[in-house]
Amino acid sequence: MKFNDVDFETYFKHHPDKNGYFGKYGGSFIAPELQAAMDEITEAYFTICKSSKFISELRRIRKEFQGRPTPVSHLERLSASLGNVQLYAKREDLNHTGAHKLNHCMGEGLLAKYMGKKKVIAETGAGQHGVALATAAAYYGLECDIYMGSVDIKKQAPNVARMKILGANVIEVTHGLATLKEAVDAAFDAYAREYKDAIYCIGSVLGPHPFPMMVRDFQSVVGIEAREQFLDMTGELPDAVVACVGGGSNSMGMFSGFLNDPVDIYGVEPLGKGSKLGDHAASLTYGTEGIMHGFNSIMLKDENGDPAPVYSIASGLDYPSSGPEHAYLRDLGRVKYDVISDEEAIEAFFTLSRLEGIIPAIESSHAVAYGMKLAKTMGRGSVLITLSGRGDKDMDFVLEQYGMR
Ligand SMILES: *Cc1c(COP(=O)(O)O)cnc(C)c1O
Repeated sequence: MKFNDVDFETYFKHHPDKNGYFGKYGGSFIAPELQAAMDEITEAYFTICKSSKFISELRRIRKEFQGRPTPVSHLERLSASLGNVQLYAKREDLNHTGAHKLNHCMGEGLLAKYMGKKKVIAETGAGQHGVALATAAAYYGLECDIYMGSVDIKKQAPNVARMKILGANVIEVTHGLATLKEAVDAAFDAYAREYKDAIYCIGSVLGPHPFPMMVRDFQSVVGIEAREQFLDMTGELPDAVVACVGGGSNSMGMFSGFLNDPVDIYGVEPLGKGSKLGDHAASLTYGTEGIMHGFNSIMLKDENGDPAPVYSIASGLDYPSSGPEHAYLRDLGRVKYDVISDEEAIEAFFTLSRLEGIIPAIESSHAVAYGMKLAKTMGRGSVLITLSGRGDKDMDFVLEQYGMR
């Protein structure tokens, strides 16, 4: 399928290009000593990860350890409550550890093992990426250093406990605001010192090349499975596909299965409390081009051009940029990006729980809310939603802040 002169038949051969660009977005903007490490990972990715041995081992791990394929569920009662459009969910909440992040962490961990590394390094904000990586590290017998701001360590006690139980070292970062940004810097510093024995594992389709490509490819299992399952269930493709976009990994995974199909694709960003800078984290909707954390993309900037403070009720969506491939697909018009507020997400959180017996993560509730809106405007057809994770982690907070609905 051709779209604005881009041939999606051969899209993955040319995106990213050999320097890691999706159009003008992406690339690698890092210190020279780290560039050598990135080049090593890129080289390893193209040789090791494309080998049949690696692919068959990862396939076995996905089946036997992660519990893949995760099912697609027809949301019958939710659909009936909205009209004639049929809604379906790809159930990443049923992936081991309860979210999609393990998909790329198991891939990155296996690559680390094949490269002969002893350790994986990452930062974490809310702790979701830290838990997924600690899980992979335990499985592969790798050491795991997770950098985390002291403010986040206090806020995210259950995830800190999980990481420690899984054998990871949670390293407290105390300088500056002691949150995610400082943790990213500390993790990169550590990586620059230790790259001979360690690999850095990013949490989404972000960062310098090759991470946006690598994480997309590991997450593409979501879209590939879902497309086949949907065809099998209904005999046709969905009319629309919807996923929430923080950094953009669960959405890129799903979208990669459908880019070459006549299917409308929607990425859903968090509007938080409103459209004023600081009240949301909808970077693709309100941001401008800029470089941060080693890559060029669309980002939300403060008056000095630095990453702006952002907010969302969903800590997994709370990031001032999104992956470069999303910025590219947005400019092309192949994917449409739109927003859902905290309030709408909360409403969807309760609706899906009540009507389907599935408690979604607040992040995923953004996609559910958008799917519900779309169903009302479409009149007929079908919508496939990525349910990126389960909502157990959010229950106490939702009840405390919003009460029972
Ligand atoms: C981290 C997270 C997200 C957001 O990350 P993406 O890279 O945009 O997918 C979404 N949903 C859940 C459940 C998460 O844990």
